[in-house]
Amino acid sequence: MLRIYNTLSNTEEEFRPIEEGVVRFYACGPTVYNYAHIGNFRTFVFQDLLRRYLRYSGYQVLHVMNITDVDDKTIQNARAQGMSLRDYTTRYTEAFLEDSRTLRIAPPDVMPRATDHIPEMVALILILEEKGYTYRKDGSVYFNIARFDGYGKLSKTDFSGAQAGASVDTDKYDKANARDFVLWKARKEGEDFWETELGPGRPGWHIECSAMSMKYLGETFDIHCGGIDLVFPHHENEIAQSECATGRPFARYWVHPEFLIVEGEKMSKSLGNFLTLRDLTAQGYAPEAIRYLLLSVHYRKQLNFTMDGLHQAAAAIDRLEDFLLRAREKASDEAPTPEFKAEAAAARVRFREAMDSDINTSAALAALFDFVRAANQRDSRGALTGGDARLAIAFLEEVDGVFNILRGRPEILDEEIARQIEARQEARRRRDFAEADRIRDQLLAEGIQLEDTREGVRWKRSAGAPPVK
Ligand code: AMP
Ligand code: ZN
Repeated sequence: MLRIYNTLSNTEEEFRPIEEGVVRFYACGPTVYNYAHIGNFRTFVFQDLLRRYLRYSGYQVLHVMNITDVDDKTIQNARAQGMSLRDYTTRYTEAFLEDSRTLRIAPPDVMPRATDHIPEMVALILILEEKGYTYRKDGSVYFNIARFDGYGKLSKTDFSGAQAGASVDTDKYDKANARDFVLWKARKEGEDFWETELGPGRPGWHIECSAMSMKYLGETFDIHCGGIDLVFPHHENEIAQSECATGRPFARYWVHPEFLIVEGEKMSKSLGNFLTLRDLTAQGYAPEAIRYLLLSVHYRKQLNFTMDGLHQAAAAIDRLEDFLLRAREKASDEAPTPEFKAEAAAARVRFREAMDSDINTSAALAALFDFVRAANQRDSRGALTGGDARLAIAFLEEVDGVFNILRGRPEILDEEIARQIEARQEARRRRDFAEADRIRDQLLAEGIQLEDTREGVRWKRSAGAPPVK
């Protein structure tokens, strides 16, 4: 059974969804004001892994991830570009989806855009107003944090001394500046606004997620996920708004991946120390290697991003691919040997135990690599049978259903590779070594490595990291 760390209880808990066999999962999505950086993608890749592992464990998962397409930054940037908010955020929503595809992140089942849910947000604010949790000031509506006893329960902070009546209009602030936060912002000159029952204005960031999560998943749902920086104020405020409006518990398990850091600091747009996925793929790094690196460290530990780490990730994938290539040459329909069957079963148990233990990806990958190492040793002793090879492939593919880092079965392109290899052999026969080398280098540039063996030329797809110079 899966055990997962819940920020709300500060402990690792057994995961039991409300409805047996079904997981209702909300993830805070990107703010589409620019390209997401790979720190953001650490969080999104983790969400994808969690969802895949839940499915692997037999749950049906309903995954909702919003798009934050109205906030201070989207409005400012759209204006600076002379574009409408909708056109501007559509551009970056599409870029985000494209990057997600590149990183092999499955799209959520529902992807609501904030600006398509203004009436739901207004309705929620009206309920809070009716129940006496809010006040108005200069056309804006604020949530009165002193009215909610549970305020601070997620971030474990005592806000009882917070100055009564002091309010904050920005969406992001720290605990030291905790104040009554804004639910609805009065219209400002030159900013986008909606004409509503609350008056002209736009929603605060926090109410967006409360309205969209409850619309698609119900008042109480299973998992709420977002990067660790969202614990306060965003998720604390979501809990306050939602629980005060419904009188029921909001999300049950709060799951927060830690930061990706660079030289000791959080990767962030504001620090300027960020890399986008496009920066890395343009340098020739394979998306699989980037995904592997993002997943290889346990999600509750900080991940220190380095180019060296990326090379190691690419090399790790190469080891798996190498093994698969050989196993595929060898695989047959015969029954696997009992010893190898037992080894594969033990590796599967280790993999599941690691993942059940708060999604311990580094331990799960260790189980995989130990299995591959043992199978390689068996092979070099001449003891890996065709049936063993087939079983090994099945296990690697099973694990890959969760990690999604292998490039999959060779595609049609293989014919082209075979043709090039034949042309290179032909060049060698004519002793045209320059031409033979040219063909080899050209293939290498396309990520195909050739290996001359006694049995002939073998090739493999490299995970794409450019060779270290
Ligand atoms: P944003 O687009 O700013 O709303 O952020 C999208 C997601 O990325 C949120 O869940 C953030 O918590 C997360 N995030 C931001 N910076 C990092 C980082 N350096 N490492 C991991 N996750 C991050
Ligand atoms: Zn959110």
